[in-house]
Amino acid sequence: MFCYQCEQTAKGQGCEKVGVCGKQPDVAALQELLLYAVKGLSRVALAGRKVGVRDNGVDRFACEAIFSTLTNVDFDPDRFVEMLGKCVALRDELARKVKDAGGTVEQTGGPESFVPPQTMDEMVARGEEVTVRPDSGDPDIISLKQTLVFGLKGVAAYADHAAILGREDDAVYDFVHESMAATLEDKSLDEMLGLVLKCGEINLRTMELLDDANTGTYGHPVPTEVPLGAKKGKAILVSGHDLADLEKILKQTEGKGIYVYTHGEMLPCHGYPKLKAYSHFYGHYGTAWHNQAKEFAEFPGAIIMTTNCIQKPRETYHENIFTTGLVGWPGVTHIADKDFTPAINRALELPGFEQDIDKGSVMVGFARNAVLGVADKVIEAVKNKQIRHFFLVAGCDGARPSRNYYTELVEKIPDDCIVLTLACGKFRFFDKKLGDIGGIPRLLDVGQCNDAYSAIQIASALADAFDCGVNDLPLSMIISWYEQKAVAILLTLLYLGIRDIRLGPTLPAFFTPNVLKVLVDKFNIMTITTPDEDLKAILG
Ligand code: SF4
Repeated sequence: MFCYQCEQTAKGQGCEKVGVCGKQPDVAALQELLLYAVKGLSRVALAGRKVGVRDNGVDRFACEAIFSTLTNVDFDPDRFVEMLGKCVALRDELARKVKDAGGTVEQTGGPESFVPPQTMDEMVARGEEVTVRPDSGDPDIISLKQTLVFGLKGVAAYADHAAILGREDDAVYDFVHESMAATLEDKSLDEMLGLVLKCGEINLRTMELLDDANTGTYGHPVPTEVPLGAKKGKAILVSGHDLADLEKILKQTEGKGIYVYTHGEMLPCHGYPKLKAYSHFYGHYGTAWHNQAKEFAEFPGAIIMTTNCIQKPRETYHENIFTTGLVGWPGVTHIADKDFTPAINRALELPGFEQDIDKGSVMVGFARNAVLGVADKVIEAVKNKQIRHFFLVAGCDGARPSRNYYTELVEKIPDDCIVLTLACGKFRFFDKKLGDIGGIPRLLDVGQCNDAYSAIQIASALADAFDCGVNDLPLSMIISWYEQKAVAILLTLLYLGIRDIRLGPTLPAFFTPNVLKVLVDKFNIMTITTPDEDLKAILG
């Protein structure tokens, strides 16, 4: 196996024996084979577009398949075999329609005509053959092709969430197919760089779709206090990122004496008016995804994983955890039909919390609508020099001890500065009481990782108000990355021309020195150093 798509990759170079995330070599090979098959599907989809043949089922499936290969989503080999079969069936059916419409699918002997082998062992062996490695071609081109594929995994995740809530844009699907097919072709460095930045542009559009889906369905988030303790009674914990799943679980648990808690990236859901309206939607339990083995073991109810990030379930809670959507773990009960009865029954069997527990609270709901609602106050505070600087400290969390940088940084940011945050990196500091500046909280939780869209809207509105560019604002972006949604967001920031981003805790293993040099020259992207050094460099 070879995989270097996430920040915790082995030795900072690549997982070759087994994934640090727990991904086994057979799953790694099947994921590579599925991506190869999707590239073939994309070739057929592009041929179809030339003769006016489009298939929404194919477009949706391509995103689901790509999303399922994102870090910590699906570890179940059988599910990948199923997806491979579906991919080839969709491809062949689409190819027939293209032919009937007078189109031609160019036959290269590649994935547009690939037939999956019969047995699991043969499929794994074929997956190994098509696995992309840093030396599979010109290292810099491979680096950019893989950056594109990893960025697409983020796009596919957001597109899938948006589509579930009825928001789609053919331009997103067109780009997914164009890019997947492009990775099979000879491309120059400039062409690949163009596609990588276009991926950032398309990701911005995709996050906009998801923002519209979430706010259009559940209302604009409003500042909301979320308890971190527990309420006496039966309990279900919902993890992942999917708001529609949470709503279904809230509906299906109504009147059953079960309190519903969020975990990880579901925390911002408490700010959405139509979700917070459920009286049994209580609070938030636990911290970031990588602490789940300990925290899930102590949760006295059922746990439902709606998207990444699942880790190997311990024996102690194996019977309590359920997956849905694209998430999978071998042997864990999967709820495919969104009837959460098995999880609800398990929650009713388990003891639940035996008493109320007070662990304080945090505030959420400072997305674009709420922040821009007090824009006048914020602008006034900047003009009066009450607010000196904004820090966007955002991105994923991970297990590396060096991620303590983000906690220390937020602790050391001076009192006259505002910290905007989003995604699960905030669990390093989300419960810190940073106070306020003239009634504006110093720590503003904008939301999930996809709410980077909201943060971009806030930054753009401030830039408009001060009649300058985002790069000229007293704003610094300090990003922590772990998986591929963060790659997509980074590409969006680069597409927007944002300079001086500080990225950590380490740089992606899939950037070659030459690719990194291009990014440094063009965008002055840099790695984090120490909180003191970075604050000195930013604030002087
Ligand atoms: S997803 Fe990350 S940890 Fe898992 S195999 Fe790939 S690089 Fe390794």
